[in-house]
Amino acid sequence: MSNLTLEACAECDLLLNPKQVAPGEICQCPRCGYRIQQPRRQSIERTFIYSVTGLALLAPANLLPILGIKVLGNIRDGNLWSGVTALFNEGMWAIAILVFLASMVFPALKIILTLLVSGYLYFDKPGRYLATWMRYLHHLEEWAMLEVYTLGIIVACVKLAGVADLRFGYGLYAFIALLIINCLLSTSLDPYSFWRRIRQMQREVRHEVH
Ligand SMILES: [Zn+2]
Repeated sequence: MSNLTLEACAECDLLLNPKQVAPGEICQCPRCGYRIQQPRRQSIERTFIYSVTGLALLAPANLLPILGIKVLGNIRDGNLWSGVTALFNEGMWAIAILVFLASMVFPALKIILTLLVSGYLYFDKPGRYLATWMRYLHHLEEWAMLEVYTLGIIVACVKLAGVADLRFGYGLYAFIALLIINCLLSTSLDPYSFWRRIRQMQREVRHEVH
């Protein structure tokens, strides 16, 4: 019996023989053209380092003041959280919840899950929940939208520029850095090689058990 396991194309379910593809090359489905593999160089290492950086940025981006507004001599600082509570107090609770989830909860979850998965793979530790975490991560991709809040900051700046003195806080720099890390994570994480490594680890564990 051959050891070869067939793989299904994620788009059209065509069964294919797994191929070793070098970084920089693209492997497409012969039937529908779906990009099955597009390996990225040192995907695990880079993803791990970016997610450690992202974790360090989470607290300052969420808690430090993003914008300071000076009106009639009074200075008021606002951070991400105070933006959410302000929306809530204005009665816009649905938007408040959406902003809270999309700009605070989901991005944080995404970074923590990415750190867990890439950390286990980086240190070569088979984790029982690796596959589950990978699946959660796949779904989070569509929900973590830091861009939503970025748009809010830009709108606030434009509206207030004429009437108040604006000061940018350290939170804004942390937030922008987090946004960049988020983009870097999307380009470094190669789901195919992550899954292949996870399956390989699962097989090794099963061999040790039997
Ligand atoms: Zn296909």
